[in-house]
Amino acid sequence: LQQLRQGLGKTRRGLINQLKAVVGQGPLNEEAILEVESLLLQADVGVEATDRIIEQLQSKLRQESLPPEQAIAYLKQLLRDILDYPGGKAYDTTFAPQPDVLNIWMLTGVNGVGKTTTIGKLAHLAKTSDYQCLIGAADTFRAAAVEQVKVWGERTGTEVIANPSKNTDPAAVVYDAITAAQSRKVDLLLVDTAGRLQNKKNLMEELSKIRRIIDKKAPDAKVESLLVLDATLGQNGLRQAQVFAEVAQLSGVVLTKLDGTAKGGVALAVSQQLGLPIRFIGAGEGIEDLRPFSSYEFVEALIS
Ligand code: GDP
Repeated sequence: LQQLRQGLGKTRRGLINQLKAVVGQGPLNEEAILEVESLLLQADVGVEATDRIIEQLQSKLRQESLPPEQAIAYLKQLLRDILDYPGGKAYDTTFAPQPDVLNIWMLTGVNGVGKTTTIGKLAHLAKTSDYQCLIGAADTFRAAAVEQVKVWGERTGTEVIANPSKNTDPAAVVYDAITAAQSRKVDLLLVDTAGRLQNKKNLMEELSKIRRIIDKKAPDAKVESLLVLDATLGQNGLRQAQVFAEVAQLSGVVLTKLDGTAKGGVALAVSQQLGLPIRFIGAGEGIEDLRPFSSYEFVEALIS
C-alpha cells in the first residue's frame, strides 16, 4: 500500500489531494462541486465517470449538508462503487487461477506498455503462490519479444514454449503451449500475444485464431483475456483500450506504471467506460512490483 501511495504521489499531491482539500473544507457547496469536477477530469477519471460522481454528490447534497469527514468518506465510496461494478455489473473480485482446471491467461497490449514485464511478474506471482505455470511466447512478430519473454522465463524458473523459426504462426505456438501445459498438468498458462494496433484487421484475425485454437484444444480451460494498459498514457491509453475491446473478448485489465507519472484516475475511466475490471496493477520494474487489484487499497492510496 505504501508503495502504491508513493507511486500515486503525483496524483495525490497534485490533484486528488486538492480534491480532498476542496471536499474537506466544510459543507459542500456548488462551487466546491465544480472544482471537484475539474480536479477529477485533470486526474484522468474521464468524462463519464466524473459525471456520474458529480451527479451522485449533488443529489446527496440536496438531501443533506456534509461535514468534511463524511464528504470524503462518501466520495471514496463513490469511487469504490465505480471500480467494484465495472460497466454497472458485479464481478468476481477474487481473481486467481481456478483449481483442478487449466487456466489460460492471454495478455495483449501495444508495445512498450509493459506486457512482457507483466508476464514475468505474473509467472513469479504464480510461482510464489505454488501454482505450476508455463509461458507461451505467441507474440512472434517481434523476435525481441520472444527473447525478452525467455529472459523472464529464466529469471522466474518458468518454462517458455516458443517456436525457434522466424515469423511462425502465433496460433501454432499456442497449440504447442497448450499441449505442453496439458501433458505437464500445469495450473496456469500465460500467453503473450501481439498488440499491433496499426493493423486492426490483422490483430483481430490473429487474436480470434488464437481463441479458436484454445476453444478447440482446451474446451474446459478457464480463459481470461487481459489487456495491459500503461497508466501514464491516460486518456490516450483508453482510446487504445477501446480498439482492443472491439477486437478481443477482453475480460480484464492490468494497469502498469502506476509508480511513474501516471494519474491514477485512469483506473476509474477504465472501469466506467470499458466496463472491465482492473485485475492487477504494476507499480515498478521489479519482479515483485505487481499486485492483485483491490478497490479499497487503490482508493485509500488515492485519497488519504
Ligand atoms: P512490452 O513492449 O509491452 O512487452 O513492454 P516491456 O515489458 O518490455 O516494458 C517496457 C518498459 O516499461 C520496460 O523498461 C519496463 O521495465 C517498463 N515497465 C513495465 N512495467 C512497469 C511498471 O509497472 N512501472 C515502471 N516504472 N516501468 C515498467
